[in-house]
Amino acid sequence: MFLIDNIKTYYGNIQALKGISLKIESGEIVTLIGANGAGKTTTLKTIAGLLKPKEGSVMLDSKNITGYPAHKVVKESVILVPEGRRVFSKLTVEENLKIGAYSRNIKMNKLNEEIKNIYTMFPRLEERKNQYAGTLSGGEQQMLAIGRGLMAKPKILLLDEPSMGISPIVVREIFHIIKNINKNFKTTIFLVEQNAKMALSVANRGYVIETGNIILEGTTEELKESEEVKKAYLGD
Ligand code: ATP
Repeated sequence: MFLIDNIKTYYGNIQALKGISLKIESGEIVTLIGANGAGKTTTLKTIAGLLKPKEGSVMLDSKNITGYPAHKVVKESVILVPEGRRVFSKLTVEENLKIGAYSRNIKMNKLNEEIKNIYTMFPRLEERKNQYAGTLSGGEQQMLAIGRGLMAKPKILLLDEPSMGISPIVVREIFHIIKNINKNFKTTIFLVEQNAKMALSVANRGYVIETGNIILEGTTEELKESEEVKKAYLGD
């Protein structure tokens, strides 16, 4: 179980998170939805050790990982797929996947077997395995970034706006894959999204963030029925 309690994060004097608390059970897909600038990326960066919270705690199972630097968070198998993909554009698709497993020190045959599993999930990546990552489409780069995250064998996979800048058809394809990753690998997923409709179509539960505060939480069914969510996030 992953537990965030009363997290407060600042950029200098500006308080971006005003006491965020949320819980993610093993095997769940939980989403955090909110508008531009609400504090979604800041929440993920705080969990991933890229920002230090001024107050509050981050617990992974019963381990307190609050304030761990990013490389130590990765060692705990908490893996961030950042906004905007950030694949290594001058490396091939397959080299990018290999880098994902870097922190695990696994044998070559195991590595190759796991890469095969990623290709089963993302056939487009296999077709393009020798291509430079920088030549892939935005959607394919997003697939590669997720695949690279999976190569780290995450206890929890943190996805920052996987729909960003990608055409609707490919977004649907990627969200379908996210659902399958959770189903087939039992990976716990924390999905941060502006695209509430897509996020609520794959998650089990969700939270709504506004200007650094969680203002609503519930099962996805409850959130989809909420007048507030409908009006502000689903365009109904
Ligand atoms: P987006 O969807 O645009 O990424 P978000 O919900 O992820 O939005 P954050 O990026 O977490 O929002 O930003 C939360 C708040 O913190 C915003 O008011 C933003 O202006 C501010 N902020 C973010 N990064 C910085 C920074 N490096 N320095 C100062 N303020 C920042």
